[in-house]
Amino acid sequence: MQGKVYLVGGGPGDYQLMTLKGLACIRQADVLIYDRLVNPYYLKEVKLTCETIYVGKDATHHTLPQDKINELLVTKAQAGKIVTRLKGGDPYVFGRGGEEAEFLYDHHVPFEVVPGITSAIGGLCYGGIPITHRDYASSFHVVTGHLQDDSLDQLDWRGLARLSGTLVFLMGVKNLAKISAALIREGMPKDTPVGLISQATTPTQQVLTSTLAAVKELALKEAVKPPTLIVIGNVVLLQNKLNFFEQKPLYGKNIVVTRASSQNKKMIEKIMDLGGNPIEIPTIKIEKIPNNLELQQEIKELNKYQYLILTSTNAVKIFFEALAKTGLDSRALAHLKIATIGSKTAQVLSEKGIKADLIPTDYTLEALVALIKPFIKPSDRVLIPKADKTRTVLVETLPGNIKEVVIYRTIVDDRQKALLLQLLNEDRIDYLTFSSASAVQNFMKILGQEQVAKLNETKIISIGSMTTQAVLTAHLKVYQEAETATIDAMIEAIEKDQIGDKRC
Ligand code: SAH
Repeated sequence: MQGKVYLVGGGPGDYQLMTLKGLACIRQADVLIYDRLVNPYYLKEVKLTCETIYVGKDATHHTLPQDKINELLVTKAQAGKIVTRLKGGDPYVFGRGGEEAEFLYDHHVPFEVVPGITSAIGGLCYGGIPITHRDYASSFHVVTGHLQDDSLDQLDWRGLARLSGTLVFLMGVKNLAKISAALIREGMPKDTPVGLISQATTPTQQVLTSTLAAVKELALKEAVKPPTLIVIGNVVLLQNKLNFFEQKPLYGKNIVVTRASSQNKKMIEKIMDLGGNPIEIPTIKIEKIPNNLELQQEIKELNKYQYLILTSTNAVKIFFEALAKTGLDSRALAHLKIATIGSKTAQVLSEKGIKADLIPTDYTLEALVALIKPFIKPSDRVLIPKADKTRTVLVETLPGNIKEVVIYRTIVDDRQKALLLQLLNEDRIDYLTFSSASAVQNFMKILGQEQVAKLNETKIISIGSMTTQAVLTAHLKVYQEAETATIDAMIEAIEKDQIGDKRC
């Protein structure tokens, strides 16, 4: 079977600046090949079975040379895969997307191109600069600032200096001094406004404004680094009025999220929507029980069961791995009624070709019991593959013969310890959030007793009384407890604090 390649523009950085079509391509990909400037958050959208390959490049070295990327696209598609090639901004704006598409054409690989919001326009917009304006610029020109062999010859500087529209240079920070000098030499006024927008549309966005004559000094002083957009023209004068992004309530704030990666999506998205920078330091991860003989035994006897309850995406994944290991597939479940909790669990199950029969609207064990209890007969056998430390509601309240099998356990996740220590040492954490007592306890284990003093000045936000208690037990202060025990209320507490800060 012939596969297909989608060349997708991933937008300038803000994860919501992606087209619906682009997101659909990410979700259906068998292979996702992505670049450095792409928001890594999109990786959370791929199928469990999707292979993700980073081929990022930066200005000085290529992780994978362009010809190897081209070959990779062809090889994967020829193996029958749906390949999504995700590139920053728009694939055809200095992204070498044109070359990749040509290569696919030459190798008879079917492809589609999904345009993206280019940083040249979207990045300026978030920086507070409209690329055109009736009073200031009636055209715009997007120019590469990456000068081959550092030579100025490849561009018509005289022509550029005479244009009255907005000039936007991409990949130009390294050559900023040369660019400004060449334009001045060719007659562009020295006081022409210039804007520098770094990390545009992300919570670490930085905008500087200057003039053609002075911008070089400013960039040196502020140590401006790529990725940066250089904007030249009178539209830059509007920046102080139109700079909406930096007015967002959590703009630029570093907020540590300690929930497990499988459960932090909603919180991270809320923080990003408000302009904040969520930093994932999960404290809990899951570990599969190795050589699980008990599970294998129950799988062999599946025909004796009438119900299967899968309460998490992890449970689905591990259960199906065990099924495959026993030489079986989804057909072995054909006679069972299957119940799940949460739409994500149902979605992962559907990727295995199975539609859940029973899904409660609330994502709680109690709601699941209420939904399935009327169906289960006392003689029915119910299999529940589960995590080690879960509540006992199901086994206590369901009728029938219930068999729980522990298939994974939750353990301390210390993979981000180095990042955590670095953030603390550099004093870069604005808020530290905890949404469970176990997250607090694990966090303290990761940090180590000798480091705890570093948290004395950190603003700790707790979701509720049990979590607060755990923070106090660790001899730390809670800065704010959420009004209700929800993620929304935690974020609101931070938002209110920021609004308060800004008023002062
Ligand atoms: N295809 C991309 C551009 C790739 S060239 C697009 O359409 O946006 C890479 C250059 O784009 C960087 O050197 C920088 O000048 C610019 N760029 C991309 N994303 C950026 C961002 N978030 N902030 C500032 N500049 C960015």
